[in-house]
Amino acid sequence: RDIKRTPTVVLMGLDSSGKSTLLFMLQTGVVMDTSPTVGFNVATLDLNKKTALTVWDVGGQAKMMANWKYYLEGCKAMVFVVDSSDRARIGEAQKALKKVLSDDNMKGIPLMVLANKKDLPNSMNIREVSNQLELPSYKDRAWEIQACSGLKGMGLQQAFLSVAKLIK
Ligand code: GDP
Repeated sequence: RDIKRTPTVVLMGLDSSGKSTLLFMLQTGVVMDTSPTVGFNVATLDLNKKTALTVWDVGGQAKMMANWKYYLEGCKAMVFVVDSSDRARIGEAQKALKKVLSDDNMKGIPLMVLANKKDLPNSMNIREVSNQLELPSYKDRAWEIQACSGLKGMGLQQAFLSVAKLIK
């Protein structure tokens, strides 16, 4: 595969939103015991015969925020992972998302929000997550939201196929 022609998708989200777990599940179909991402993982995903995506998991801890800009260059789509069971941090997630999308490199770049941990009984539905993240205010880009569970492997394949479709 010509790696340069493989669209780059940047995967972001606050720490503990479930980025490592879902990346690992996508790659291997197995549950991994993880600790919050400190640096970043890189994965190449074969979605189907035609589509491969390079995903950069760039973490979400406050100290990483300063480095975000670097990863956004040449990015074709943003996948933002949010812990839909964490009402206490949804405001923090909203601010982080807004900040990252305001970067010059992100102009018009499509957004896929993964409302993760939908297996938890108290998780917010996509309508609630969408409103909390103020997604309707993003009018200058294509965006979608899908519920998923990285832990159970629910909704991941569909979500990344949709991401592939969002990329022009
Ligand atoms: P990261 O910091 O964003 O990479 O988050 P991790 O992948 O390390 O996940 C943080 C914690 O949430 C871990 O204890 C995971 O087992 C847990 N977790 C991740 N995804 C899910 C999920 O879909 N459902 C549930 N119930 N827990 C999850």
